[in-house]
Amino acid sequence: MHPPEIRARARRLYLCGATVAEAARAVGVSYPTVRQWCKVRPEPKQQGTESRCFRCRSDVDNPTDPAQYAYLLGLYLGDGHLVTTARVPVLRVSCADAWPGLIAACEQAMRNVLAGAVQRVRHQGCVVVQSYGKHWPCLLPQHGPGKKHERRIVLADWQRTIVERHPGDILRGLFHSDGCRFANRVVVRGKEYVYPRYMFTNESADIMASASGVSTCSASPGG
Ligand SMILES: [Zn+2]
Repeated sequence: MHPPEIRARARRLYLCGATVAEAARAVGVSYPTVRQWCKVRPEPKQQGTESRCFRCRSDVDNPTDPAQYAYLLGLYLGDGHLVTTARVPVLRVSCADAWPGLIAACEQAMRNVLAGAVQRVRHQGCVVVQSYGKHWPCLLPQHGPGKKHERRIVLADWQRTIVERHPGDILRGLFHSDGCRFANRVVVRGKEYVYPRYMFTNESADIMASASGVSTCSASPGG
């Protein structure tokens, strides 16, 4: 038995134009097996991002890369916005100029999760990474009117499952977008000690609760 994510990845490669042989090589599974995955039950004709939305597809119900999903969810909950009033919904995350690595990581996560087009829009002091996609609302059901910290943020069961398996990734996303890491200086008996400290500044009590629940879980042995 092959894990469902391998099968989904092979099918996705095939749908994106790879041959069966190329998809088989990419996932390291035999040609006949991959041919069966790709051809026996052909994908219904789908348009746009629907074929890439794991919530709308009948053959997969999980992201191909759950760690990237958890990271993107963290970025979104931290300092992201999903605008659903536009003709096509647009997901935006503002990334501070101070750390260019975040811009690339954010872009990569958007591509990996929905595989849509991603753009950078420059503003003063920050870059907004944005991606248009009809199916972003399926993947980020926490969207809604008003500010995130003023409304209730509850993770769906399927999101909770992913987050519990990838606690480090959602925390990384939350900290990258909304937390700030700084060195704490403490002077003890004339000697200065410097240690990094994370400060978390999200105003939503729900987001704080899920983050602290996740930290406890990631700190537990074997968890
Ligand atoms: Zn969808």
